[in-house]
Amino acid sequence: MTVVVEAKNLRQVYKIRRGLFKEPAHLQAVGGVSFAIEAGKTLAVVGESGCGKSTLARMVSLIEKPTEGTLMLDGADAVNTPSADKRRLRQAVQLVFQNPYGSLNPRKKISAVLEDPLAINTTMNAAERGERARAMLAQVGLRPEYASRYPHMFSGGQRQRIAIARALMLNPKLLVADEPVSALDVSIQAQVLNLLADLQQEFKLAYLFISHDLAVVRHIAHEVLVMYLGHVMEQGPKADIFERPSHPYTQALLASTPGVGARNVQKIVLKGELPSPLSPPSGCVFSSRCPYAVERCRAERPLPRQIESRIVACHFSEDFLSSGFPAEKPG
Ligand code: SF4
Repeated sequence: MTVVVEAKNLRQVYKIRRGLFKEPAHLQAVGGVSFAIEAGKTLAVVGESGCGKSTLARMVSLIEKPTEGTLMLDGADAVNTPSADKRRLRQAVQLVFQNPYGSLNPRKKISAVLEDPLAINTTMNAAERGERARAMLAQVGLRPEYASRYPHMFSGGQRQRIAIARALMLNPKLLVADEPVSALDVSIQAQVLNLLADLQQEFKLAYLFISHDLAVVRHIAHEVLVMYLGHVMEQGPKADIFERPSHPYTQALLASTPGVGARNVQKIVLKGELPSPLSPPSGCVFSSRCPYAVERCRAERPLPRQIESRIVACHFSEDFLSSGFPAEKPG
């Protein structure tokens, strides 16, 4: 299968001003993330707010340039591409946002919302654009005559369908969906997720799916990447991550969402808040909240390494995989 997007060691560091007389601080929002997504596959990125998943989405959708790392999109270097090629790459990746109310211009009819990308980026005439907009509405399960209505005349689920239709107007290869169903009712969420799955099959789309909701991720993902404080904790096939997690943070996330992980496994309850990315814990970034942290964890950062089909960043993942997560803190 064709690889649509491949990221290697993507980093994003922001300079934070701290007043006139102090040196700026450096905030590492994403600290070296690598992945590849094939056509027709979904990589879900999960973690608490502030873990860096939305920053990652902005880099992959070419809104922000990474501080470091490489990003290959549709066969081209998306970081150092000449501006003439940028336009083609911008069409290859499209975004679907969380809020279907805020992402559509309330003053524009749906026909204009859908046709504008074609008017700007293609040589199609008005009749062709109108025909394509109506066909796309039908594709996302809406009546073609809705093209003459305004966004306020639709429900939240319908608006998200329109946002998805708009994202598909330029035949992208990759859809970056940032919490696309979290503002919708649960019953509507399933419909929109099923629509995304159908469209993926039909158009062989690659999805980078950002979500904090593991029930949603379980429904749509093929691969899962778990992030904490800008770093990858665990990354691998969905079944492995959900049924046999090997990182305490993954296990804690699964334990906090009833009904999504394997049964009869140790419940890990996260204590405390996410630390500030301006002063992350030394060693393992998860050590200040990990119930299994020992001295080595605070002294030595566990580098991501391959164990079986997954990549994991924990000193003790082999033990957790072979014996499960212990009830008591070791050591
Ligand atoms: Fe917990 Fe230590 Fe593993 Fe980090 S390296 S997740 S602190 S056990």
